[in-house]
Amino acid sequence: TQKITPLIAGNWKMNGDAGSFLEVEVIKDHLAANEVNAEVVICPPATLLHRVSVALSESVAKTGAQNCHSAASGAYTGDISVAMVTEAGGEFVIVGHSERRDGYNESNEDVRAKAIAALEGGVVPIVCCGESLEVRESGKAIDVVVEQIIASCPDFTNEQELVVAYEPIWAIGTGKTASSADVDEMHNAIRAALVKRFGEQGAAIKILYGGSVKPANAKELLGVENVNGALVGGASLKADDFWGIISAA
Ligand code: PEP
Repeated sequence: TQKITPLIAGNWKMNGDAGSFLEVEVIKDHLAANEVNAEVVICPPATLLHRVSVALSESVAKTGAQNCHSAASGAYTGDISVAMVTEAGGEFVIVGHSERRDGYNESNEDVRAKAIAALEGGVVPIVCCGESLEVRESGKAIDVVVEQIIASCPDFTNEQELVVAYEPIWAIGTGKTASSADVDEMHNAIRAALVKRFGEQGAAIKILYGGSVKPANAKELLGVENVNGALVGGASLKADDFWGIISAA
């Protein structure tokens, strides 16, 4: 297996205000003072994206959006395009988060269209997948997730252009994490599916784990084979917690 630099991405969701910049400054200072073995991305709400990007302009940390529209522009009230993400300084965009799939009925086709738009606009899509508790208990989690990820991932030319995140829905914001054994099994299955679909390049795509990642469990989860980083919700809002996860990579 090849060496992949881990990616730690923070998803603020609908949280954050002017006070959050203190947290951003702390992360920036930690990153400037320490050597880290990870790429770091912060995904604040769209209204804060430009400000956070400016705050991090002299840092190794990058920024991303939490969602985008697949169209370039037009009558899509409330949405933002990939070009708007870029203009605000974002280099990544989370697509297909379960909160969007469930709350806004986003299908695999919708997610794929957003990921294609991101690639075309030079923004790295972080394509999310993950099963519900019901699916996990039915024993079909692997089949469901593999199908979801393959249907949601677009073709690409360079493996650095695309990131995948496995986030079991029952572990998001619940304090429950998947066991290392479950994560290992799932990430191996996702890796095999990516290699089958994309060949050699599929072996180099980062596969992030997400779901109640905290400083206390980060080392163990990030140590699992084929876990190439983390997508962090709640713990990305506090600089000390986020830093604890980054330094565990
Ligand atoms: C997320 O929403 O991407 C997530 C993993 O949230 P949390 O870390 O809070 O479970």
